[in-house]
Order: sequence, then C-alpha cells, then structure tokens
Amino acid sequence: MTGDVLILGSGFSGSMLAWILASQGMRATIIDRGHHPRFAIGESSTPAADMVIADLASRYQLPALAALSRYGSWKAALPQLGCGKKRGFSYFHHTAGAAYHDTPDHAVSLLVAASGSDEQSDTHWLRADVDAFLFAQAAAAGAVVREGCTLEQLERSGRGWQVSWRQESGRHERATCRFVIDASGQSGVLGHRLGLERLDASLETHTSAIYTHLRGVGSWDAARMAAGDHSTLAPFRSDDAAQHHILEHGWVWMLRFDSGLTSVGLVEPGDPPRPAADLAKLWRDAVSRAPSLWDIVAQAEPVRPFAAAGPLRRLWSEASGAGWAMLPTTAGFVDPLHSTGIAHSVHGVARIADLLLADRCDDPAWLAYGRAVTDEVRWIDQLVSLAYATMTEPRLFRAACTLFFLATIRFEQAATAGSPPHSLGFLAADDMPLRTALGSQRQRLLQAAAGRVSVEHTLAALRHALASWDTAGLFNPAAANRFAHTAPR
Ligand SMILES: Cc1cc2nc3c(=O)[nH]c(=O)nc-3n(C[C@H](O)[C@H](O)[C@H](O)COP(=O)(O)OP(=O)(O)OC[C@H]3O[C@@H](n4cnc5c(N)ncnc54)[C@H](O)[C@@H]3O)c2cc1C
Repeated sequence: MTGDVLILGSGFSGSMLAWILASQGMRATIIDRGHHPRFAIGESSTPAADMVIADLASRYQLPALAALSRYGSWKAALPQLGCGKKRGFSYFHHTAGAAYHDTPDHAVSLLVAASGSDEQSDTHWLRADVDAFLFAQAAAAGAVVREGCTLEQLERSGRGWQVSWRQESGRHERATCRFVIDASGQSGVLGHRLGLERLDASLETHTSAIYTHLRGVGSWDAARMAAGDHSTLAPFRSDDAAQHHILEHGWVWMLRFDSGLTSVGLVEPGDPPRPAADLAKLWRDAVSRAPSLWDIVAQAEPVRPFAAAGPLRRLWSEASGAGWAMLPTTAGFVDPLHSTGIAHSVHGVARIADLLLADRCDDPAWLAYGRAVTDEVRWIDQLVSLAYATMTEPRLFRAACTLFFLATIRFEQAATAGSPPHSLGFLAADDMPLRTALGSQRQRLLQAAAGRVSVEHTLAALRHALASWDTAGLFNPAAANRFAHTAPR
C-alpha cells in the first residue's frame, strides 16, 4: 500500500494523530504490536491536556474529541468510556509509623484546584477504553489500522520510507510512505532502528514505579473526617482529585474511577525491583509504614497483578529528522509526578498534525519540533527533580510544586489569551524570563534542601522573587495551602 504517513504505536497519541490526519484527507496507516482494548498506565489528565484537546477538536471539527476535554462533556457524550473526576492536585505528607496528622494551617497537605466545578473538571482516563475509542475513530475516519503486527523492514528509500510487517496470521504487508511517526512510547522503535543515542543519564530524575488497579479502596476524605479532620473537603473533595501520598522514600498516587476502580502506584527513586521480586509485598511493606493510608487500602483487591516499570526516565538524542518524528513521550519521559505525560503527548500530536497538514515538513520547523520536545523534557526534568530533592520537607516540597504550577499556569494563560496551545512551548518552556526566574529559585530550594540555608529565609526570598509571576496567589500564606482558583478557564 502507498500512504502519506505511517504511525508506529496506537496508544492514545498515535491513534489521535491518525484520526486527525485521516479526517483531513491524509492517507494514514497505524500499526501496533498489541490489540485493543488493553491495559495502559498514564491516566491522569490536566488542564493543559484538556486545552490542547479542545483546540484540536475545534480546529479539525471533531466533536467526539471535544467531549474528552471535560468531565461533564465526557460523561454526557461518551459514558461508555471509563473515567474519573479530577478536580485538581492534592498532596499529603505521611510520617513513617505514625497516624497521619495535619495542623489547622495544613502544614502537611496541599490542595490546588484545576477547575471550578465538576462539569469543567479534568479527568482520569481508563486507558483501555480511551485508547480503543481513539483507535476506532481513526479507522472510522479512513486510516488503515493494523493490530498484532511485528515490524520487519523500516528503511529510508529516496524521499520516503519502505516499511513491512508481519501479522499474527503470518501474512506480510508492505507500505511506502513519506513520513514515519513514532508513537511506540517506551519501545522507541525508530530510535533503535536509526541507531540514535540515549541520553537518559543526563536527566536528574531517576525513579521507578510499581502499579495496579485496586477495587475497594476506602475514601481518604471519609477517613480524615472520621479522625475529626475536615480539611481535605475544600476547595474540592480530595477523592475527586489526583491524590499524592508522600511517604518516607517516595510517593503513592491514587486516581479514582467512577466504576469503583482506583489506580494506585508507588514511585521511588532508583532502579526498578528485580524481576523476581514480589511486587504486592513491596507495595504492602511501603504503604503499611503509613498506617492511615494503609487503613484505606488494606482490604482492597488488585484486579490485575502489580506491574513494575523503570527506570522511568528516557531521552533520545533527537526527536525529529528528515521524514520522521517521535511524539513527545516516545522522545523522552521523566516521571509521573505532575502528570505531564498526557499533556505533553497531545501537545506533540497537535504540533505534528499542524506541520504535516500544512506540508511544512521540509522546512526548519520540522527540526525545530524535535529540538523543542527535547528541551521540554529537560524542563520537566528540572521541575520534577526539584520536587524529589525537597520531598522530605513539606514546606520546600510545596514550594517546588508551586514552581511547576507557575509554569503550567503561564502556559494555560497564554492559551486562554488566544494563542493556539501547540504554538506555545509546553509548560512555558520557551518563556525565557519565566524559566530564568524559576531556575534561580530552583537553585535556592536545592540549597535549602541540602541544609545550606534556612528554610524560612529561602521561602521568604522565593516569595519575593516570584511575586510578579504568582498570578494565582499560590504564595499567599493566608490561603493555608488550599487554592480554589488557579486555572484561567
Ligand atoms: C508509571 C507511569 C505512570 C504515569 N502516569 C501518568 C499520569 O498520571 N499522567 C500523565 O499525564 N502521564 C502519565 N504517564 C505517562 C503516560 O503513560 C504517557 O505519556 C502515555 O502513555 C503516552 O501515550 P502514548 O500513546 O504516546 O504511548 P503508549 O501509551 O506508550 O503506547 C505505545 C503503543 O505503541 C505500541 N508499540 C510498542 N512497541 C511497538 C512495536 N515495536 N511495534 C508496534 N507497536 C508498538 C504499544 O503496544 C502501545 O500501544 C505515566 C507513565 C508511567 C510509566
């Protein structure tokens, strides 16, 4: 077969790109080694992701895509796709071996709203459903879709590519196309085939995770109320948000789906457990050291075995070249903290769709795409590694998270003011004044985390230095770590 674009990998990003391109009349082919529906991790969306998705839906007139950009529209238009409500971000610092205890001014917790109502809220994506839906939409729009494929040949041929693969039936198929887009995620198919270098060790964050879906997780909010603490209910119920439980050596995510399932994961610095390790035991050992957290998961049952992933960080030396490009989280990934993966991925989908459809693939913009994505992964790494460096000191950790929020709010504000989101650097990575300001405060926080300067002095200086960037009042001590209005929408 002959086509314009071949996409490797049919996760949500490859499938969304194929859907958009096919809907605009491009001949797109998408191949995957697996089959839908299938489990995938990476489920917590953000306002930045929603803005890009809404813009894509309007730009390419895909109303079914628009529905995915808000909890309310999702539930109304696509109730068959599993999801959960995400009103914002919540963080709780636990002390090993002790019951969780907060103070009236919330010394060990932080709630940051990302939306003003349930209707407008972000979502947790049941990836099996979402990815299968997008894949089906790509097929319905006219993309050639193939599952259960083993890639064989992938070679440059003149100004295009020769690609062949074997199907499970043993049948071989062959395609010629002008462009190959790699959306194979961790597999990094193109990077390996092109012999590109991996720059993982140049990233500062170095973590691994174990994760599963549990049924029967208790309510953290109800447990807090039972303990006489009502502070997790405003400005939103923390059960309706991404919960980050900070432990002694890492953190646990909890993302609740409407079906009663809860996605849980334990992320810790370092390499993943040995292949023979008992992952359920590792989970139990780590979480049971936070007794209040353990109380809500002790009776919960995994609906699938725990899986391990790591080291999570990766970065290819290049993300685009003549006739090829990687989508962002194929090109590089840092860590689940701050939920950057979905947003960065769809941001890349928008950029690549724009370049391909405008036939701007020979001009410097195509190479600039790759350089921007690589730089953005490094920017995410700066923000995320700071959070790890400060994780054991709640005040410093909250300040580190706030640097991330200032970057994302800056991006959201620019998008709300009318710039197409994909024309902006992801997380304001191209906003050099902001980056310089946050970069120097990052150094300050690292000094404090290393015990070289006092925490109080550091935070006071940081608040002063970043006051003009803090449009949402995130440094306002009177808010006592509860923020109802951050997102511009
Ligand atoms: C532990 C963990 C937790 C995360 N949590 C979050 C989160 O909460 N929020 C967030 O925003 N992001 C999160 N992420 C990041 C998120 O998972 C990724 O950004 C997202 O999955 C990228 O989607 P994708 O469609 O680009 O790729 P993937 O979902 O990785 O899909 C790749 C596809 O390529 C296919 N494939 C692979 N190899 C081949 C091959 N050789 N030939 C053909 N097909 C192939 C696979 O079968 C798969 O379908 C997390 C990541 C990890 C590791």
